[in-house]
Amino acid sequence: MGVSFKDVAGMHEAKLEVREFVDYLKSPERFLQLGAKVPKGALLLGPPGCGKTLLAKAVATEAQVPFLAMAGAEFVEVIGGLGAARVRSLFKEARARAPCIVYIDEIDAVGKKRSTTMSGFSNTEEEQTLNQLLVEMDGMGTTDHVIVLASTNRADILDGALMRPGRLDRHVFIDLPTLQERREIFEQHLKSLKLTQSSTFYSQRLAELTPGFSGADIANICNEAALHAAREGHTSVHTLNFEYAVERVLAGTAKKSKILSK
Ligand code: ADP
Repeated sequence: MGVSFKDVAGMHEAKLEVREFVDYLKSPERFLQLGAKVPKGALLLGPPGCGKTLLAKAVATEAQVPFLAMAGAEFVEVIGGLGAARVRSLFKEARARAPCIVYIDEIDAVGKKRSTTMSGFSNTEEEQTLNQLLVEMDGMGTTDHVIVLASTNRADILDGALMRPGRLDRHVFIDLPTLQERREIFEQHLKSLKLTQSSTFYSQRLAELTPGFSGADIANICNEAALHAAREGHTSVHTLNFEYAVERVLAGTAKKSKILSK
C-alpha cells in the first residue's frame, strides 16, 4: 500500500487543491462529457522536506494509478545530450501506463529560464531538455489521462513557458508547517513509536519547540529519538530522548544552512 491522504499530516489546503486530480483520474468521463478542460498538471511550490513528494504519491494512491517519478537533475546528469531522450521515454511510458501521474522532482534543474544568446540561438543540454518537456506537455491531450506534478523551491528561476496555460498553470503552495501542522505531523510519526507517555503529550510540546522545522525534520526527530532510546537500553521512548533528537536535528539543519549561505 502506498501513501494515502491520511498519511499526509496538515497541508489541508494543498490536499483540497490536488483532490481534483484524483477525481479526474478516477472518472475522467464525468469531466469530459461536460466539456471541461482538465488542467494537465500543477507545480508544487515550497521548501524541501515539506511533503511535496508525499502529496504527489498520495494523489496516485488515492486515484489508484501508477506513479512515475524522476528528479530534474536526472535528466541533465546524463552525459552526451540524453536529457531530451529521457524526457521522451518518460512520457512514452506515461502514455502507455495511463491513467497515471508523472512526478518531476526539482524541476528547476531543467526548467531554468532559457538564456538568449546574441544570435538568438541557444541550445544547451538543459534547454533542449526543457524544450522536449514543453513539446511533450503540449502534445498531451485531455484523453491521454496523464497528470504532471512538478516540484520546486525556485519558481523565480523557472522559465515562464512552463507555467503558461495548458502546461503547469496550477500552483499549489506548500510552506513550512505551522504550529498546529507540526503537531499533526508529530502525531503521524509518533504513531509507530513505543512511547513512555501519551502521543499528545509529546506532540504538543515538540511542536512548540520546533518552529521553522520541516516535515522531514520532524520525521527525523522521531526516528532519532527512537534510536537514542534503543542505544540507552530503554524499552520505550522518553522525553530525554526527544530532547536529544531535537538538538541533533537542529545541529544538522544549522550545518546545512551554513553551507547553503556560503
Ligand atoms: P519534499 O518533496 O517537499 O522535499 P517529501 O515529501 O520528500 O518532501 O518529505 C520528506 C519526508 O518528510 C516524508 O517522507 C515524510 O516522512 C516527512 N513529511 C514531510 N511532510 C510531511 C507531512 N505533511 N506529513 C507527514 N510526513 C511528512
